[in-house]
Amino acid sequence: MRYLILSDIHSNLEAFEACIALARDKYDEVVCLGDLVGYGPDPNPIIERVRALARVIIRGNHDKACCGLLDAAEFNPLARQATAWTREQVTPEHIAFLRSLPPGPVMLAGVQLVHGSVLDEDDYILGPGQALPELRNQATQPIIFGHTHYQGGFQLTPAGRFQSIRCSSKQDGLTLTLSLEAGARYLINPGSVGQPRDGDWRAAFAIFDQEKNQVEYYRTPYDLPQVQQKMRKAGLPEPLICRLEFGR
Ligand code: ZN
Repeated sequence: MRYLILSDIHSNLEAFEACIALARDKYDEVVCLGDLVGYGPDPNPIIERVRALARVIIRGNHDKACCGLLDAAEFNPLARQATAWTREQVTPEHIAFLRSLPPGPVMLAGVQLVHGSVLDEDDYILGPGQALPELRNQATQPIIFGHTHYQGGFQLTPAGRFQSIRCSSKQDGLTLTLSLEAGARYLINPGSVGQPRDGDWRAAFAIFDQEKNQVEYYRTPYDLPQVQQKMRKAGLPEPLICRLEFGR
């Protein structure tokens, strides 16, 4: 079985469609690690598409904020504005759907799926300080997480050495094939579909191949001007529109 892993789509329909187009014929099932909505201009089309496509969807902090399960006062002012706008747009049926999403971790094919971390769905695993405790406590191989919007992840080698997983930023398409080594532990981040923050504006996703026990990371350009135009028309905050082109 090959699983297409999507995370942090953030209402970016053009980025989502570009990922689906590149991944076509490469996967059997779709998994979503949360943050379907927030920031971007197309919350309803994204909820509809992901709901129809994905076998497993866990919730992210923005999904919780947009359906009233989390107080958006915890967010920075720009994220708060985007949350308020999203809440006004999302249909009551889609709000009910967001409220029904399970928190991580969810087990699938021997893998743990989380939005933030296994211990806390809202935690950011950004470096060794957060990654090492997760890797040391790891019961499954690998843990697949999102939330940071950084493609790559972390590993602990069988000899106990900590390493970051780095993808190539040079070419479109496949950026890294990672064979999962027996005895090693992994935290895998597919990157963000709709709002990358690793300095690369292109939409990110990954495919987990269960039989081969490997992860493929991908990157694809998408129609960014179209998304920015929609965001301006919607009156979403200008810094959120600009940051998309810098991948920050
Ligand atoms: Zn996110």
